[in-house]
Amino acid sequence: MNERAPREFVFELRVCQWAERAWPPNETRECPVVVARQLGTQYRRWDTVVVECDPEGLERRANFGQRELDSDLLHVVRNAPAEWAWYRDALPYPGYPWRYVREAVHQAAGRDLVETRRRGNRIELRRKWAYPDWVERIVAIENKPDLDASAARSLAPQLERDVALALADEVWVATRQTGSTVEPALLEDVPIEAGILTVSPDGAGADVAWLPRSLAVDEPGTRILERPDGGPADHSAARFEYVDVDWLDRKRLEIAERAYGRGWRSYVDSMRPDCRHFRLQPERTGVLPWCDAKECAQTASECSGRCGDFEPEPPVWRTRGWPIEGGPGKAIQRLLDRRRRRVRPGLE
Ligand code: SF4
Repeated sequence: MNERAPREFVFELRVCQWAERAWPPNETRECPVVVARQLGTQYRRWDTVVVECDPEGLERRANFGQRELDSDLLHVVRNAPAEWAWYRDALPYPGYPWRYVREAVHQAAGRDLVETRRRGNRIELRRKWAYPDWVERIVAIENKPDLDASAARSLAPQLERDVALALADEVWVATRQTGSTVEPALLEDVPIEAGILTVSPDGAGADVAWLPRSLAVDEPGTRILERPDGGPADHSAARFEYVDVDWLDRKRLEIAERAYGRGWRSYVDSMRPDCRHFRLQPERTGVLPWCDAKECAQTASECSGRCGDFEPEPPVWRTRGWPIEGGPGKAIQRLLDRRRRRVRPGLE
């Protein structure tokens, strides 16, 4: 592969590939994992997310289909009763108008997640399956292929916020292995609660340079809103607020659901696999997107209809020798989707 400047996007995909295959680092895997990228909350987006799952729970999660369940659907499926009941009796008041809950109940029925029936003016529901406890731990990884001292310094405030909030059980920084040991000065700049993972340039292996501390996800977290910049003239106080455990629990499950639905291969959904120059380049441990026109691994942002080299695949590719549903672009999407489903046991 043409190793142009180390590109964060490619590094990120390699970290995801490695995590799906080999998480946890330097240990034997005891539970299945679901890996995704670019997930988080409105305040913070992590590069890579690893959800460690209860094996049986993960299999039972498949009853609810491959698509993610958003917060409204989770409210319905987690509280749907075993026996028929009016939805307002069965579901706890969510803090917003009931008409939105009714909408979510219809949506859940439309996706075959619950059963509904009408009794006079009332909509009743009952569950098809109990929503399982499938999430054990959530691990957040920040990818910094070139983690020099200045990158570590600018990353530190973000990591300190992650540690204070404790939305993830562990926070890591993944960096590219250089062959030399990680400088002690660099370790000083990264909060000691965050782990450091060094990933081989081809993404085939990874080592632990520093072990993270497990964060107290079952206690209220602290959201740092503002902090002094630390300069000699800065006498301002930090501003923060507490975040209750219910909020943390809800957000963790929403993140896990998004990870389940999207996985990390969803990058292809925001690229142009229908361009004649797009292909998947095999590597030692998987495949990465590759652009024949640019002769490099393209990023999601450059691979769009606005790209100067974009050329739609010729219509003839879609009719001769290719599946009826479409040409190579569609075949690439199906291939990645099959691989995503393979690591979601229980899906049809
Ligand atoms: S030419 Fe542009 S649109 Fe086509 S695959 Fe390459 S980067 Fe993507």
